[in-house]
Amino acid sequence: MKIPLPLVFLPVALALPEPVANSTTEDFLSQPDAQTSSVIQNQTSLQQDIVSQRTYFYDSFEQRVKKGDRTTDLYSCFSRKDKTGNMVSYNPIAISSLRQKNFYPVNWNLQPIVILDPGHGHGITRRTSGPIDIGASRQGVHEVDVVDGFTAALEKEFKSQGISVVLTRDIDEKATLSRNSFFPEHTTALQIRAELSNHLAKKYPHHPIFFLSLHADVFDEPQRSGSVIYTYGQNGESLSPLSSQMAKTLKGHFSLRPRTSTSHRTEDFAVLRCQPEHVMAALVEFGFLSNPQDRAAMTHPQNVKNIARNFVKGINAFLEKQQNTSEIRIAAASNAPAITLP
Ligand SMILES: [Zn+2]
Repeated sequence: MKIPLPLVFLPVALALPEPVANSTTEDFLSQPDAQTSSVIQNQTSLQQDIVSQRTYFYDSFEQRVKKGDRTTDLYSCFSRKDKTGNMVSYNPIAISSLRQKNFYPVNWNLQPIVILDPGHGHGITRRTSGPIDIGASRQGVHEVDVVDGFTAALEKEFKSQGISVVLTRDIDEKATLSRNSFFPEHTTALQIRAELSNHLAKKYPHHPIFFLSLHADVFDEPQRSGSVIYTYGQNGESLSPLSSQMAKTLKGHFSLRPRTSTSHRTEDFAVLRCQPEHVMAALVEFGFLSNPQDRAAMTHPQNVKNIARNFVKGINAFLEKQQNTSEIRIAAASNAPAITLP
């Protein structure tokens, strides 16, 4: 990718049009605040900034939970209370329209931010124990370990390319594997990961932001193999155009093994549903633990390193493409329909 010169694009960023809609009552997609430092062109300061934003966000979330503050559900895009106080799920179509309505034009010349979401790994019962959620397992290989390997390789590769990275949970210290230990339930752990993404998207509304949830799959038939990139959609319909464009470029750049394909599908995964429209969000299943060749490929350190390198090349290729065609996205945002939430 082309790393822009510091501050050269500042006037461009300030001249961007205002978002097309006023803020809704939904916290998770509310307007960025006035103090937001949305234009940071220095990679080192952006890297420090996003890490401190993560600490701030998790600390405040934890404090609310510790105090017994149950209003955390107001912060959620997974469910909300209806008039009678019952929890109801959002209609994914409504969520999608809301995301479009709150679209912020991306300035593709600003420093990109990558949020890596190592799947599973949340919930610690004792300091010496492992995570409660280890994901899928085959032949003694656990998804959480595969995912941690890919996360470490990708983090290193992105940073070496001058791209700032933040993780939704820690992977460096097994005993305290996750900051999500305060949120042992699966849905809460998923929620906080998506909320972190929303928080950063609000703080840096015009930066290109990627949310990449990393996983490994299993299937009954051991023949099934290969990588799949999922973006947000329902019933086969893509509901996140920008993420889909990213996936299409990305899938041409990496495969798990020689002669295996990487496909792009859409799915209504909660962690993708809760992403703002201007965040490029995908859930990547690198391969099948149930396939012996895939399993070997996903646990081979040099292979993982190579995949990470090609993966980052794919993201860079997408960024370069967008740097040449960004006006298309700004135009598309103004056509978003107005919606009423259930
Ligand atoms: Zn998984």
